[in-house]
Amino acid sequence: MSVGSLTKKLGVLGGGQLGRMMCLAGANMDIAIDILDKDIQFPAGRFANRFVEGDFKNYEDVYAFGKTVDVLTIEIEHVNTEALHQLKLEGIIVHPDPSKLDIIKDKGLQKQFYESKGLPTSPFAIYDDFIALKKAIQTNEVVAPFVQKARTAGYDGRGVAVIKSSEDYHKLLEVPSIIEPLVAIEKELAVIVSRNASGEIAVFPTVEMEFLPDANLVNTLICPARLEGNLNRYLTNMAKEIMVAYDVCGMLAIEFFLTKSGDILINEVAPRTHNSGHHTIESNLTSQFEQHIRSVMNLPLGSTKMKHPSVMINLLGAPHHSGPVKYEGLEKCLKVEGAYFHLYGKKQTRPFRKMGHATILNNNLNTAMQNANFIKENFKIISNKTVS
Ligand code: ADP
Repeated sequence: MSVGSLTKKLGVLGGGQLGRMMCLAGANMDIAIDILDKDIQFPAGRFANRFVEGDFKNYEDVYAFGKTVDVLTIEIEHVNTEALHQLKLEGIIVHPDPSKLDIIKDKGLQKQFYESKGLPTSPFAIYDDFIALKKAIQTNEVVAPFVQKARTAGYDGRGVAVIKSSEDYHKLLEVPSIIEPLVAIEKELAVIVSRNASGEIAVFPTVEMEFLPDANLVNTLICPARLEGNLNRYLTNMAKEIMVAYDVCGMLAIEFFLTKSGDILINEVAPRTHNSGHHTIESNLTSQFEQHIRSVMNLPLGSTKMKHPSVMINLLGAPHHSGPVKYEGLEKCLKVEGAYFHLYGKKQTRPFRKMGHATILNNNLNTAMQNANFIKENFKIISNKTVS
């Protein structure tokens, strides 16, 4: 396989913050990135080489866009894969491979994939519709506590219902879903692994994720993860194994559970850049965004080594605020040593909407955490309009 060329035209389905950060990374290497998404006002709009307004879930829009580029990739998995299959047949380089994207998009197929490959994941049952699940609950085939996940279209915790007891049944999702036992989680960990068409594989150091209770949304990321023994090496090897099992090019962000009994379980993968890699922009020798570009364009992969320990926090819309965005307290937070702000340029805020992130570098992780807490307390994303 020949090494890729910088002059290939790269297209990305999705123009949110991940697309935006990919465009910014591409600019450093003078790689122009075209984006397909609904509205040029979206985060990537100002930074794309060419922003095509269209729907990445629509066959015609994806096909027409794909025909204008040499290499096509994604920033979101819920895209029209039928068009991707066709584009691949017609010689467009599509990463990740559409057949693997079909598996990853569906949490039921994804779980079956791990089971078939002998990779560790929690037990699960698939329910094709809500009636079947209700019946299983009535007959005690499914008994709380458990976790229900929509098979498709879930993200950032939307599409996940944690059912601790029968009192939570009102939270059940009326869609095709999978049911898993409620895992006793010690830590949630993430590993990002990349592969190019020449077969090179590179793995970023493991990070630790803390979630916002009730929203199932990443709140704080700690890099490197505080792990005992050779767990980082174990996870690095497991990430490579998962990449080889999927046999894709591009990036896999793998979320793991470290259970209270010390087991490692694969929760899920995302075949793209991911929230758990935002810190790499400042914290590592190569950012996940540059690495993704390198991997899909078959360029040599960059070093994933950590430069500085870091804490990354998502900057979320304040509760009860919904409308045109206003930032409060940025000035004093900009004075925090080693803090890097990334505001995604979203015009409208909503409660808990991801509006940006900040990465705080410090050789002492405790100091980084204190600085992150200062920013959490003092930087507010609000609106004049409120909701109850
Ligand atoms: P999403 O695709 O929306 O990110 P996930 O499958 O990653 O959904 O679930 C979101 C969060 O819900 C996880 O990070 C974890 O905190 C919690 N969660 C998911 N599955 C389980 C489980 N089986 N047991 C306990 N908590 C879980």
